Amino acid sequence: MAGKKCVIGVDVGATWSRVASYDMSSLAVEIDREPTDVSSSKAVSDQIVRMVRSLATEGGFGASSIMGICIASAGPLSMKEGALMKPPNLPFDYVPLVDPVAKQLKAPTYLVRDSIAGVFGEKKFGAGKETSNLCYVTISTGLGGGAIVDDHLLFGKDGNAAEIGHYIVDSKGRLVCGCGRRGHWEAYCSGKNIPRYVDLRLRETEIASVKRSVLCEETKGKISFVSAEALFKAAKKGDELSNQFVGELGIFNAIGFGNVVNSYDPELVTVGGAVALKNPELILNPVQEHVGEYAINMIPEIRITPLKENVVVYGSIAFAVDQVSKGKTN
Ligand SMILES: [Zn+2]
Repeated sequence: MAGKKCVIGVDVGATWSRVASYDMSSLAVEIDREPTDVSSSKAVSDQIVRMVRSLATEGGFGASSIMGICIASAGPLSMKEGALMKPPNLPFDYVPLVDPVAKQLKAPTYLVRDSIAGVFGEKKFGAGKETSNLCYVTISTGLGGGAIVDDHLLFGKDGNAAEIGHYIVDSKGRLVCGCGRRGHWEAYCSGKNIPRYVDLRLRETEIASVKRSVLCEETKGKISFVSAEALFKAAKKGDELSNQFVGELGIFNAIGFGNVVNSYDPELVTVGGAVALKNPELILNPVQEHVGEYAINMIPEIRITPLKENVVVYGSIAFAVDQVSKGKTN
């Protein structure tokens, strides 16, 4: 159809990559997802290009109808270089994204950190439409956040503001984070690192109580590396040991959320990411119960994002629309 225009939002996750088209006239959104191809650093951008082409063709958008593309990814990254810089959750030191995508798809392309896109998605499409002070926290493979303060989306000098996953939550620094430092929130409570915390705690636990736990049953005795999924499953079955560990992780989360509340003074904090979306009560209840012990500011509403696993890709759409409406070409 002649004259049909769209923007493209992309979310490159550690596990899934999502691509969405947003029809500028009908406002219809179509979302496609695939497991992220991490076979090489080039494979990441090649996959984006292929997925965008296929989605645009399905939606009847011609080659010149893409007005802008926004790619959201876990950081650290450089918005200026349009590349990821030593991301802890991808096995490469440098992943260029903006140049290869812009060249092949011939459209203005932007890069933002995923959790910054998340808070923008919440503001434009989700629970934060009426809110001027808003944070988004993702508890997923990694752990991150984004903040809007006085209606202003925070980026920082390179695009890495609100790297809340690297707040210190354990002053003893027992676990080392993917970034190489000790005691960081992400090193304890992210999906990738919960198994390492459980492993640490199991070593400190009397073997008899480990053996009679549901956790031991759930993992068929292979208790040396318990997945986050197995831990939460055993906790839901009422296992005492698992609930103890989940409670301890809840305190680390409460410290982290307390720091978020103290840093940004938000009216609303929404929470996403697979770990939180699959276990909303086990993650949020201890936070709501204990955050007041760590925050000095008034405690805001803390809730699961209504946009669920698509909050970041909606944020990418919102960012691309914003850039197109400002007339920015790159
Ligand atoms: Zn860290």
